[in-house]
Parts: sequence; structure tokens; C-alpha cells
Amino acid sequence: MKLTIGHLYPDLLNLYGDRGNLLCLVKRLQWRGIEAEVVPLPSDRPVDFSRLDLVLFGGGSDREQELACRRLPAIRAGFQAFVEDYGVTLAVCGGYQLMGLRLQTARQNLEGLGILDIVTAWEAQRLVHDIVVDSPLFLSPVTGFENHGGRTDIKNGTPLGRVGYGMGNTGRSGYEGLVYKNVIATYLHGPLLPKNPEVCDYLLAQALRRRYDSFRCLLPLPDQLEKQANTAAATRILKKRYIYQKSPNNIRKFIHDIPYKYYFYTI
Ligand code: GLN
Repeated sequence: MKLTIGHLYPDLLNLYGDRGNLLCLVKRLQWRGIEAEVVPLPSDRPVDFSRLDLVLFGGGSDREQELACRRLPAIRAGFQAFVEDYGVTLAVCGGYQLMGLRLQTARQNLEGLGILDIVTAWEAQRLVHDIVVDSPLFLSPVTGFENHGGRTDIKNGTPLGRVGYGMGNTGRSGYEGLVYKNVIATYLHGPLLPKNPEVCDYLLAQALRRRYDSFRCLLPLPDQLEKQANTAAATRILKKRYIYQKSPNNIRKFIHDIPYKYYFYTI
């Protein structure tokens, strides 16, 4: 078996270790004896999505997003067809925003790919935090690091999960990220996948399922160390003083909204 992984715009979008996601996907395939081919997809070249199993779309500064935006019309149709056909995609922060209808930077209003029905507004106060997310897709907490000026309105979309600690999509909604078909879009850098091996294996399994009718499930790996690191990170972050919102009313509202296991926060 083999998976082909496309790294979209590596020349522009690659922040806070996002490339580690690529290494993690490749390693966890190879450790199971599954071949992995990595295809860099620079912003100045045409992209053939039909040969890809998995697309990585990383984060970027406002300036890099502005440059990337000029190139989007060339990939819009192919990328959309890939996503609608359950192509597996991990979009992080800047990449997440670019998959939406519109986004703002400090200087400009930009048109995104319009593949996801989301809109991102810009606010001067950046949301810079360690973050823990409780996602119904995963047993383990999803941990990472966020740093964004954008506030993403996912409308009626399905969030990746609830914010346990940190800010997430808007800093106000209590939700983080978006799941659409086989797309996971999230604000979590870190890089995300080495910190959350369960998320990595979920993406790999979805891609293998889509490619091979005969695929049943991934072999478990002896990755106790990675899982311990995930637990340690989540515990350390969740023990921090809770900083979700400055307004006490909002804090109270959010607290009623979050699962029981997070009730031990110190306010
Ligand atoms: N420039 C975008 C923002 O500030 C995305 C940042 C990122 O990818 N970390 O919202």
C-alpha cells in the first residue's frame, strides 16, 4: 500500500513547525510498512489533485496569505473536487482561513477558496496561547499552540471540538476548528500531528480507506512515549489559570457549556 501526500504551498505556508505534520504522517506510515510519497506543491506550479491522497495546507503570516491568495484561482476547482470526493486534508490556521469564502488581514479583505462555508474577520488583538481541545473524534485531548489575528465564523459547520483551554475559532464561541467530509481544519500549530498521534492516524486511516477497498484498520504502534507526551502537555496546559474571556459573564456562560471533566478550572 502507498499514500501520496501533497504539501501545498510549502514556499509560503509553513509556520511554527507545520512541516512536522508531514514528517509525522510519513513516519507513521513507514513504521507500518506502508509507502509514502511526498509531493511538494509550490505556489507557482499547477497542481494535479487527482493523484493525491492527502493534502497538507499550513499556516502563514498575513503577507504570505496575501501572496497565496493570488494563486488560489488556479487550484480552486481541483482542490474543491478533491475535498468533495472525500480527499483527506489537514488545513492549519492560515490554510484553514484560506479554505473559506473570505478572510481579512490587517491590510486587506481577501477572497478565499470557498471550499469551506466559513468567513474569517481580523482583530488587532492576536490570540496567542497553548490550547487544548476536546473533540468527539478522538479519545485523547487535542493539544497545540495557536497564534492568530483571524476570528473564524464556521456558521452551521461542525467544529473539531470544544475549547478546554485557549481561544479557538473566535475566542468567544468556545469551539475550535472545523470538520467537513475528510477535511480537518484547525488553528492548532505545534506541530499538530506529532503532538496528537491519534489525529495523525485518523487522517491516515481515512486516506487508506478511500484509496484501498481492502483496507480495514491501521496496526497499532508502540507509541506510549508519544501518548505520554500528549497527556503531559494537556495536563500542563489545563492546569494553567483559565483565561478564556475577560468578561465575567462570558466566562460564566462558557462554563455552563463545557463538559464536566473541565470543571476544575481556577477562575
Ligand atoms: N495570518 C493569519 C492570522 O493571523 C494566520 C496566522 C497563522 O497561520 N498562524 O490570523
